[in-house]
Amino acid sequence: MLDLSTLHSVVEQSYREFGQAPGGANADYIPFLANIPSDLSALAVVTANGDVISAGDIHYRFAIESISKVCTLALALEDWGAQTVQQKIGADATGMPFNSVMALELHGGKPLSPLVNAGAIASASLIKAENTEDRWNRILGMQRKLGSPQIKLSSPLNESEQSTNFHNRAIAWLLYSSGYLYCDPMEACDVYTRQCSTLLTTVELATMGATLATGGINPLSKERVLSPDNTPRILADMTMEGLYDTSGDWAYTVGLPGKSGVGGGILAVVPGVMGIAAFSPPLDDIGNSVRGQKMVASVANTLGYNLYKS
Ligand code: GLU
Repeated sequence: MLDLSTLHSVVEQSYREFGQAPGGANADYIPFLANIPSDLSALAVVTANGDVISAGDIHYRFAIESISKVCTLALALEDWGAQTVQQKIGADATGMPFNSVMALELHGGKPLSPLVNAGAIASASLIKAENTEDRWNRILGMQRKLGSPQIKLSSPLNESEQSTNFHNRAIAWLLYSSGYLYCDPMEACDVYTRQCSTLLTTVELATMGATLATGGINPLSKERVLSPDNTPRILADMTMEGLYDTSGDWAYTVGLPGKSGVGGGILAVVPGVMGIAAFSPPLDDIGNSVRGQKMVASVANTLGYNLYKS
């Protein structure tokens, strides 16, 4: 049984110890992200019972970025089922950077993972939709159901990304040429870029993790968001590719499915128990929040949560 006062002190302690850890730099290839104050920092746990424990800049809304890939994958699984998603996108690590074109070229144009840019653009294209706005609204709807109804698009962030996303546009066309894209390529890239441009708090991110931890019921809204058959697939994908090309190191040192984004957010899931989320903008060379990784790892390690432990 989880003791709430222990949980409070572990969150406080992990935030105090690692919330301002040195090192890293804001992402600068998206101009909006380069200007976010680097000293912002927050840590939150949401349990499967709906308890919320948090520390730091918990009201600050940051860019979801790559963590949005988890939500769109969830919707693709709900729309099509696990077998189709595995066949059309894949469930393996690419072993290469998140926006690698080489990874596509080496595998006949198949993206391999829904948690790298190519696979995420393919996931966005798979969503059942009448038109672009319908596709976007369904994806935003899934972010809100998993996390919170307060999650919204940031127009300045979206404009900053849409005016610099040339590499992702190229990826969309490559996917199209190899038969792994399922709507108009520029529609898929536009919607993918919007899904990365929403803002959320660290508690809302931890709520997404808690919804995955319960097998698909959001513990705050009590709504069933995902079929229980789909959450193990999402967690498996997060284990394989959630922390870019250091996903293996994360599994080795922390042992929990995770996902990070270049906005500085990071999420880990303890199945059946909780979501643990952190935010702080400075990233390591791979694209993971330096402080976020340390804060989340500290909570998990201190509480003894590691999937590979007997
Ligand atoms: N919008 C970013 C991109 O597509 C997200 C990258 C990330 O967080 O990994 O480059």
